[in-house]
Amino acid sequence: MSNETLQAVRGMNDILPDEAGLWLWFEEMVSDWLASYGYRNIRMPLVEPTGLFKRAIGEVTDIVEKEMYSFEDSLNGDQLTLRPEGTASCVRAVLQHNLLYNAPQRLYYSGPMFRHERPQKGRYRQFHQVGVEALGFAGPDIDAEQIMMCARLWKRLGLSDVTLQINTLGDSACRHSHRAKLIAYFEQNLELLDAEATRRLHSNPLRILDSKNPAMQALIEAAPKLMDELNTDALTHFAAVQAILTRHDIAFEINPRLVRGLDYYNRTVFEWVTTKLGAQGTICAGGRYDGLIEQIGGKPAPAMGFAMGVERLLVLLQEAGMALPKPRLDVYVVHQGELAGQLASQVAEQLRDVNLRVALHCGGGSFKSQMKKADASCAVVAVVIGDDEAQANEVSVKPMQGGTQVRVNVQDLAATINELIKQE
Ligand code: ATP
Ligand code: MG
Repeated sequence: MSNETLQAVRGMNDILPDEAGLWLWFEEMVSDWLASYGYRNIRMPLVEPTGLFKRAIGEVTDIVEKEMYSFEDSLNGDQLTLRPEGTASCVRAVLQHNLLYNAPQRLYYSGPMFRHERPQKGRYRQFHQVGVEALGFAGPDIDAEQIMMCARLWKRLGLSDVTLQINTLGDSACRHSHRAKLIAYFEQNLELLDAEATRRLHSNPLRILDSKNPAMQALIEAAPKLMDELNTDALTHFAAVQAILTRHDIAFEINPRLVRGLDYYNRTVFEWVTTKLGAQGTICAGGRYDGLIEQIGGKPAPAMGFAMGVERLLVLLQEAGMALPKPRLDVYVVHQGELAGQLASQVAEQLRDVNLRVALHCGGGSFKSQMKKADASCAVVAVVIGDDEAQANEVSVKPMQGGTQVRVNVQDLAATINELIKQE
């Protein structure tokens, strides 16, 4: 190995302790929020058989065509992929363990996902999602519930600059007739299609509507609309979702061009977007996927889910001026001398016994330099122990925000500290 400093893989980030505080705070907030809607945690492997994603997400999608980290297991030749999203794994796990046997399931997971994209602000190769899935629910009530729960989270997080876009993709019959009309329309305009659109014309014409190519926008604008093909069931379902949202004062915009990048969606799809993050403005996206469970080998069952991009949400929070929650430390113990050192570690353990958060100074140094460390630690109090204090089984307690230093017997220490913390 060369002497060059090793670096993390491009597009994959270290989350350093200063920032990790915000992640911990966010994760706690999110698990409380999910519990308040009755969603339970599920944890799947980061690696799955490649075939799962091909089958679930669709062969002709950006993710499967060019974003997956796929490799062959050199030991047994298995084709494996680092998960690019969680829905396929979650459904696989639910089917494998027969969780839908007698009850629908409200589930969530969180963790890293992997996509080989061009790294930029808000777009990474390893990024984190919180994914929420309701399996076995057919009605519009669950669609509305999932959208409303997002609204509640934004409120709890203090985010106001996010707006909701919704659309319906209809059922497979409507999609088939729309697809046929789209192909016919684009075939009549072949000379206006770019290379990617031409390639997708017969495999996935719906994705052409998602193209960001400015030269094709007029063509896309005038393309046959799925809305015109929707059957009564799909329309009624969509109207019911809208009615519930309206009843709960959730503002939304219907965006007929919202098609989502994964093949498994049908009926309701939605995205929460912000203008604050440039091109990476979608912080949360999802929809109904009634065909997926059957598609990956289960008994047919309806389902609905969404995922949030944690990095994007955290940037948004920071830009909204959210102060980083300070890590709480109650006590910093400084000490000098051999006897003092022994008492210091004993005292630190005793304080932890009564659930105080204690950093014991390690590494020696003058009292002055140790007190500097105590200051920087943001502890509420410093406990100061010299050999003379140790001889008397006593310690000094110094409130870090000012106030007088007191000398107390070791037995009274916890009570003294708790009193000072209460005054904080
Ligand atoms: P985009 O259009 O931004 O590529 P997507 O449609 O591919 O998003 P989904 O698969 O729906 O995204 O994932 C849900 C959410 O996960 C996105 O809305 C986004 O917040 C986040 N996300 C997706 N890809 C990335 C990435 N490469 N880096 C960071 N966050 C991401
Ligand atoms: Mg993408």
